[in-house]
Amino acid sequence: MSASSIDGDALPDAADGLSCLSCPSCGSSHVAQVLGDNGGVSYVCTACGHSWS
Ligand SMILES: [Zn+2]
Repeated sequence: MSASSIDGDALPDAADGLSCLSCPSCGSSHVAQVLGDNGGVSYVCTACGHSWS
C-alpha cells in the first residue's frame, strides 16, 4: 500500500466515493481529498486531474 495522504477521520475510505463535492472544472463528482504541501486540504478531480483547494 502506498502512503495515503487521505486522513480517514472524517472521510469515507473510497477516494472516488465522495458525493458532496464536484469538480469546478468539469463538474465531475469524482473528487479526492488530499493534503497539500502547506498542511491544508486540497481536492483533486480524478476525472480530469484538476486540483484546487
Ligand atoms: Zn474535473
